[in-house]
Amino acid sequence: MRRTMLPISAALLAVVSAGASASAEGPRPPDLATAKVVDLTHAFDEKTIYWPTSPSAFELKSLAYGPTPGGWFYSSNAFCTPEHGGTHLDAPIHFAKGGQTADQIPVRRLIAPAVVIDVRSKTAADPDYRLSLDEVRAWEKQHGPIAAGTIVLLETGWSSRWPDKKTYLGDDTPGDASKLHFPSYGREAAEYLVRDRKVGALGVDTASIDYGASKDFIVHQIANGAGVPGFENVTGLDALPATGAWVVALPMKIAGGSGGPLRIVALVP
Ligand SMILES: [Zn+2]
Repeated sequence: MRRTMLPISAALLAVVSAGASASAEGPRPPDLATAKVVDLTHAFDEKTIYWPTSPSAFELKSLAYGPTPGGWFYSSNAFCTPEHGGTHLDAPIHFAKGGQTADQIPVRRLIAPAVVIDVRSKTAADPDYRLSLDEVRAWEKQHGPIAAGTIVLLETGWSSRWPDKKTYLGDDTPGDASKLHFPSYGREAAEYLVRDRKVGALGVDTASIDYGASKDFIVHQIANGAGVPGFENVTGLDALPATGAWVVALPMKIAGGSGGPLRIVALVP
């Protein structure tokens, strides 16, 4: 910004008021009393999909189920899960040393207006599809610029393959993540969304914010490196409008966690 004609105080005032109006005039949240609530979360069970190299999967062990000597019913389980499987959070520390852990991400960042970028027409014929910068620009031309803090949700249609590991991940060889094929974000699109648009989070209805064939996880590096969390294996995006919904994405508050199980819902006006 080079407005040398303006006195410094006026230039400062312009910057400050622009920042203030951006937050004050952002998209209004839906009325909680009347909003439709859409669950964007896969249930955790024995079919929940984990990365092929994950040493274990979701386990639920019954500790009690049935009548007690006192006469009332009582049920309780223990569960065990790797952080990164099912619908889950990637905290910034997942791919960025010193980044925020799951418990350190301000909750405010996880409650925000959402946009849905629907690329199902592209992914149907190309399991290695990556969202391009041109497509983000085309989306913005149609729907308007993506505001800072927005939760971006990429809809590839892959959720309909859940929980079939082979079609969802592209390969189901245990312990081998070298032959995966599924769509996600591309590098330039991620750079634009994270660095230029300063979005709040990147979500996707596939197993990763990087496409399956990625070898360098560059989108993770870009997003997590800038403190932007990822939401992976989300579902139900076809029930959301391109703009206008708000998302509430609350992960399990694991102290020091690199991610964790996520309950993510959308509020649609
Ligand atoms: Zn993850």
